[in-house]
Amino acid sequence: MSTWIDFKELRSKLNFEEVLRHYKVEVKRKGKQHHGFCPLPNHNGKKNSPSFSANLEKGIFQCFGCGARGNILDFAAMMENADPKDGTALRTVAADLQKRFCPGLADAPKAKEKNAEKPAKPETKGLPVVVNAPLDFELKGLNREHPYLLNRGFSQETIDHFGLGFCSRGMLKNRVAIPLHDHDGKLIGYAGRVVDDAAISEENPRYRFPGEHERDGKIVEFRKTLFLYNGFRFKAPVDDLIVVEGFTGVWWLHQNAMPPMVATMGADCSEKQAELIVSLVKPNGRVWIVPDGDKAGERHAQTLLTLISPHRFMRWVKMDEGKQPTDLSGEQLKNCFKT
Ligand SMILES: [Zn+2]
Repeated sequence: MSTWIDFKELRSKLNFEEVLRHYKVEVKRKGKQHHGFCPLPNHNGKKNSPSFSANLEKGIFQCFGCGARGNILDFAAMMENADPKDGTALRTVAADLQKRFCPGLADAPKAKEKNAEKPAKPETKGLPVVVNAPLDFELKGLNREHPYLLNRGFSQETIDHFGLGFCSRGMLKNRVAIPLHDHDGKLIGYAGRVVDDAAISEENPRYRFPGEHERDGKIVEFRKTLFLYNGFRFKAPVDDLIVVEGFTGVWWLHQNAMPPMVATMGADCSEKQAELIVSLVKPNGRVWIVPDGDKAGERHAQTLLTLISPHRFMRWVKMDEGKQPTDLSGEQLKNCFKT
């Protein structure tokens, strides 16, 4: 039977400094960084310049000379002349490191493998996974005056307030880019809304959300179930909070000067989102739910009621069949939220 290895846990437990010493790499520490000559056997850059650096805290390294980079396990694999992309070879190296430095980890129950929250996907190549990491760029050159938004009745103020704009390049080509912020207000990605509804298909969904990608030796995952759209704006609990399904509902309610509003970005509401909704509303405040007037909206409402009503007073504003919050005029909205 092979040794139990939880790659993620092993990476977090391994001490990069110890591993460097194990491979007889001279450690010159500067704060959290180690700099030095590249110790990798396949290093093919200059030998006499300190091109190698490792972040001891994050457990990642890179070499400007040979271009090698990765996490602590990749490093060990390369030192052993193994290819870190070769799962079997990486496992062997990891098992050796675990035996040497963290023998206790091998005792983890086998059942854990099945119950693990998220089984490691093969394509993560043993890299650490970070969820909803802040973006390291901002989309520039978005067209904030695109007819799609203006023709749907959104004012320039609303478009600017939410940072919306038509994107003509890249992953969000021909879509309206919608900045997404976590609850600390950090930009964590963009959703993209198709502007030509006739072009919607299975491969070209109405909304596109960020996918999984590799960055700086980590796998970055995006999960919309862990935050609320527009939720970052409320720094203190409010008296009244409106919850809608979609982005456009939030924009429309904002434009009509309605109470604070958030969206779950779909007809599902996760437990985490429900928890966030409760935290945004004062204990004696109210949660107003405004689901779309369809089957999915009904389901949305039922989920919200189940998760939130034990904690906060709730009001359900029912839409007529086939209607959405954006179909209501400012006057109708005012009547809906009369207290
Ligand atoms: Zn190198």
